Amino acid sequence: MNDINNHIFIFLGAPGVGKGAISHKAIERFGWKKLSTGDLCRKHISEGTLLGKEIDFAIKSGKLVSDLIIIEMVKSWLIDQIKLKKSVILDGFPRTVIQAEGLLDLMQSSVFNEISLIVVEFVLDDELIVKRLTSRLICSNKVCQKAYSTLYAPLQSKKQGVCDDCSSLLIQRADDKEDIVRDRLKVYKLHVQALKQFYKERSIPLVTVNAHQSVENVFDSFLSIAGLSA
Ligand code: AMP
Repeated sequence: MNDINNHIFIFLGAPGVGKGAISHKAIERFGWKKLSTGDLCRKHISEGTLLGKEIDFAIKSGKLVSDLIIIEMVKSWLIDQIKLKKSVILDGFPRTVIQAEGLLDLMQSSVFNEISLIVVEFVLDDELIVKRLTSRLICSNKVCQKAYSTLYAPLQSKKQGVCDDCSSLLIQRADDKEDIVRDRLKVYKLHVQALKQFYKERSIPLVTVNAHQSVENVFDSFLSIAGLSA
């Protein structure tokens, strides 16, 4: 069995495939660390930081935030986290080849010497993605941002409209409206082939997980395909 705490997992997959839910399970089970660049962007916006003002429009319209801003955000977070000797999940990063190059450059640093990088691609039909995202609610507490569903019983909150973990109100993300979801899917597809080609050229392992299953089963598939199950 692999050492479960010396990996960086790049979770690749369209918005809505369930990367957040699988990350949540991995954090609960192994104490891994997760960086969602989307969560980080929304945190900046809600706190009204200078960066938040700069990226607000891109997010609301489903476009990508500039590579430079994203790479800077990830750099400082990743260098701090990797010292904790826990595996790390990157959710929603890298989204472009420039970001992937930025990550590999960063990993030249000696703090990443023992760390192996694996790409985990989650695959789900487009129409299911649209259904999932348009019925998704997230916790309005920017530190939490846990996701729920109004459609799928296992992902419903215990008390309607309220987060199970921190009791904050649940809200719909502005970019989970159907027309914006479809734009986000287009943006994802625009970049994903080039990203996969890049990983292939750099010999970075990529495994594929079928996301047409319950969260528990997707999680188990991920562990077994990544060679992490007992
Ligand atoms: P997500 O929560 O991952 O679906 O991201 C929501 C939005 O945040 C995206 O539609 C982008 O506008 C922005 N965003 C998140 N991660 C990135 C990234 N790696 N590169 C550029 N923009 C990003």
